[in-house]
Amino acid sequence: MSNDLVIDGLSKSFSSSSAPVLNNVNLALESGSCTAVLGPSGSGKSTLLRAVAGLEAPDAGRIVLHGTDLARVSPEHRGMAMVSQRPLLFPHLNVLDNVAFAATVRGVRRRAARTDAAHFLDLVQLEGYGRRPVTALSGGQAQRVAIARALAARPAILLLDEPFSALDAELRSAMHELLAQLRERLAPTILMVTHDRDEAAAVADRIALLSHGRLLQHDRVDLMYSRPVSLEVHRLMGGTNEITGTVRDGVHYSALGDLDLPADTGWPDGPGVLVIRQESISIQDNTRNPAGLDLPAIVTDIRVLGPRRLVTVDASGITLHAEAPWGRPLRAGDAVRLTIPVSARALVPGQPDPGRPTTADTATAVMTTGRT
Ligand code: ADP
Ligand code: MG
Repeated sequence: MSNDLVIDGLSKSFSSSSAPVLNNVNLALESGSCTAVLGPSGSGKSTLLRAVAGLEAPDAGRIVLHGTDLARVSPEHRGMAMVSQRPLLFPHLNVLDNVAFAATVRGVRRRAARTDAAHFLDLVQLEGYGRRPVTALSGGQAQRVAIARALAARPAILLLDEPFSALDAELRSAMHELLAQLRERLAPTILMVTHDRDEAAAVADRIALLSHGRLLQHDRVDLMYSRPVSLEVHRLMGGTNEITGTVRDGVHYSALGDLDLPADTGWPDGPGVLVIRQESISIQDNTRNPAGLDLPAIVTDIRVLGPRRLVTVDASGITLHAEAPWGRPLRAGDAVRLTIPVSARALVPGQPDPGRPTTADTATAVMTTGRT
């Protein structure tokens, strides 16, 4: 796969006294892929998108589209189309002419531009809406018109800045479905900003995680969850289980026990924090597993998460969270056994923040015997 867009060492500050809003960001977008720039509010996501669009001038670094450095290319000649949180449709034009706008400006004959626009309205499931005034559209419909208008411009990169965040949850998932269909039919290269990791995971192939202007990790969606490169990434991806310990010969030693690590980790011997997704821990009855592949624990708390429950357990003095489906009743005080698949174990450097409730004090915990 070739890269459509390469962002190379991009930095940006708005004033010399404050911290940079973008700090040496490197990112490459494969042709036809959808990359979600994910990060908390204020982490620099929109600034990154605006720099790609040519609406902010970077202090350092390059933005290269199909091999061409865009430094001297004006926004309207970059081949980018942007859709933001608000659809920003032209109020004096009807739906069809909003979508036909880019083609008409390029000098395409009005009739041909309208025929083309009607095709894009079909693609966003607004067939027959062409003659309506844009003021007569609902929020979700207006956003679909904005997407059709952007796609009709045949952008090299489609830039989406929190495009669905103003919509309610049901409409938002309908838009995710629509985006998936558009990707199947047109395969545009998409760079999409969102602060919602569920949305990023639902629509993108890859996530680029930003924090304070730094790109922490850029990886396939599944790897962002299962192989975070740091504790910060693990936490920003919503992970809650952190176990301090020591690695020797591919085994993590902690109060939880001696846990084999996946062969792909390649972790050097020394201190390391084992991180485990709460969705990956399964809770079994307290019957002895003859293979010894599970860990004893006591349930300390149960919280309902809609169709699932978040179960907090104490395992050898370590607090762990497991997201479990509904099944047999569980109560605080129940003795259970935990299974943690080897593939769900990941290592990150550093020491967890001692103030966090998910962290146990391994120094005082008793080492258990037997490898799990
Ligand atoms: P995000 O989209 O991740 O919420 P932004 O890229 O909009 O973040 O902003 C990142 C930081 O840069 C924020 O602290 C914001 O206040 C600041 N910022 C953005 N645009 C400007 C500007 N034009 N002038 C000064 N500061 C700005
Ligand atoms: Mg923003």
